[in-house]
Amino acid sequence: MAYQPGRQFLQIPGPTNIPDRVLRAIAQPVLDHRGPEFAKLAAELLVRIRPIFKTRQPVLIFPASGTGAWESALVNTLSPGDRVLGFDSGQFALLWTQMARKMGFEVETLATDWRRAPDPAAIEAALSADREKTIKAVLLVHNETANGCMSRVAEIRAAMDRAHHPALLLVDTISSLGSADFRMDEWGVDVAIGGSQKGLMLPAGLAFCGVSEKAIAASKQAKSPRCFWDWEPLLANTGGNFPYTPACNLFFGLREALDLIDAEGLENIFTRHARHAEATRRAIRGWGLEIVCAEPRDYSQSITAAFMPDGHSADSFRKLVLERFNMPLGAGLGRLADKAFRIGHLGDTNDLMLGGTLFGVEMGLVAANVPHNAGGVMAALSYLAERSGEAGRIA
Ligand code: PLP
Repeated sequence: MAYQPGRQFLQIPGPTNIPDRVLRAIAQPVLDHRGPEFAKLAAELLVRIRPIFKTRQPVLIFPASGTGAWESALVNTLSPGDRVLGFDSGQFALLWTQMARKMGFEVETLATDWRRAPDPAAIEAALSADREKTIKAVLLVHNETANGCMSRVAEIRAAMDRAHHPALLLVDTISSLGSADFRMDEWGVDVAIGGSQKGLMLPAGLAFCGVSEKAIAASKQAKSPRCFWDWEPLLANTGGNFPYTPACNLFFGLREALDLIDAEGLENIFTRHARHAEATRRAIRGWGLEIVCAEPRDYSQSITAAFMPDGHSADSFRKLVLERFNMPLGAGLGRLADKAFRIGHLGDTNDLMLGGTLFGVEMGLVAANVPHNAGGVMAALSYLAERSGEAGRIA
């Protein structure tokens, strides 16, 4: 491919752009992972990661991508043949149910039209109908990266409580962690699953499981075979005694990323993401395109998906935008394949980067002869300009 000058605009919903400071931190000489210096670093990070999940509970770190943390959550809390409640509400929620089925669990699935997040009332009804309390866990994706719908976890927790159901609440925060508010302890989440390559602004390679006391108690009873994903050695790990080689250099990056998060402030980061999500939606409406998430209260703060007009291929559009403007956009996944494209607006992103992204999309719509109204970019820019003094901006 010919050289394309300037930085590539990586506007997929993860992996996200990595700040230069984080890249430089990762590019350090390797440490002895059994030595005192790494033990000190890991011990520090095992504590500092907790507020990102808003928990006082242990957060376990695996050298893996987020999919591994899904598996870890299942095998540590469940026994073969256990029943779980999952969702056909988007590609990632669906993949998690498929994993659970492959691993020998019995999965009951609640479906949506993939244009809204799971309905708390439907969850309450499903759990209330389970009089024998055989459902052991609910597998919820906080932010469905495939369609830009965000679950209302607090409402789902309340629905589970109203049903007086003891199922564990397992929540995938992979594309919301560090981008949208997530409160593991307050929302009664039993396992919170995360990955490093989205809001945390790192490469893929660290998978997280925040574990409640109830989940730890379940792990002591669960009979699923497990070795690499076993929580037990990690719960005993004080920093220097991982049961395998940790991803040491990503720990350097994580320390730097947490410094950046501390400097901006987690709540300010959420405000920035909310602003960018709203600006993106205004642009999409301005172009006359349809936002995939049909329920405003379910709008995601980190990714927005838009339908292409009938008869136009989203994949051809993305290909053109990549080749002409050097900007990868997210593909439509699963049943949205070729029908929708996704704009990732999460991680290390500022107003000007978002403006450039939307500009690239509008130029792409023109170049691809996609019927649209001009001016979506301007609708977004006016909104961003109105909020230029908002909290969450670097003074
Ligand atoms: N869950 C969600 C919500 C995701 O967005 C992703 C990846 O994009 C995954 C799970 C899978 O994680 P990974 O690709 O890190 O294995």
